[in-house]
Amino acid sequence: MRNKIVAGNWKMNGSLALNEALLKGVVSGTAGLEGVTCVVCSPFPYLFQLQGELSGTHVFSGAQNLSQYDKGAYTGEVSASMLRDFGLTYVIIGHSERRAIFGETSVTVAEKFKAAVDAGLVPILCVGESLAEREAGITEKVVGEQLDAVTGYVGAEALAHSVIAYEPVWAIGTGRTATPEQAQEVHAFLRNRIASLNAEVAAKISILYGGSVKASNAEELFAMPDIDGGLIGGASLVSGEFNEICRAAAR
Ligand code: PEP
Repeated sequence: MRNKIVAGNWKMNGSLALNEALLKGVVSGTAGLEGVTCVVCSPFPYLFQLQGELSGTHVFSGAQNLSQYDKGAYTGEVSASMLRDFGLTYVIIGHSERRAIFGETSVTVAEKFKAAVDAGLVPILCVGESLAEREAGITEKVVGEQLDAVTGYVGAEALAHSVIAYEPVWAIGTGRTATPEQAQEVHAFLRNRIASLNAEVAAKISILYGGSVKASNAEELFAMPDIDGGLIGGASLVSGEFNEICRAAAR
């Protein structure tokens, strides 16, 4: 039995007032759910609020990014050890928006992944193909290379303390979800690729699906054998939606 995880990625959204209502709604609305780990990943300035609202509850806190460097003259950056010092558990690494908008390369992503693992955080490593890449029939090549960049740098054993999120770029924030079969195909590919390096790690690692997951489609996605939960963007900003998605993973 693999750990089912539903992680909310708020992206650059929120305010003190909105967050308070949202967090309270998630804590109360997911209380008592068994068999699913609920995570909320907020922008850095609101992590203190997550800590206040979520510590002592069943909901975990996470960040959306970190620096590959540990400390020093890196203005504007936040290190893995700072996040750990702050009591965080999860951190999203290599989201497609960071790769596409902020120019993060596979090398940077691998360095960030290592920084997270070394600090005792659990990285949620995002991989996914663009629409053009899917249409060109190179989805497996693209996600395989994104995964290999990390396993080649840290070794497959380091994945034992991580989570993978398959997020087709064409499904993120577009309302266009991958079908359960399309997602399952890529999840199975990723798991087999990890199994070729370490079968035990492959069997245990949670692989989440992300890309326009909603309360209405979560259950059919999570019913697939290699889909172990979801990374949720837009729907994580509405507690009722997010709670329903957590419930679908717990079933
Ligand atoms: C995401 O940002 O990781 C994501 C999956 O977004 P959305 O659910 O809005 O498609």
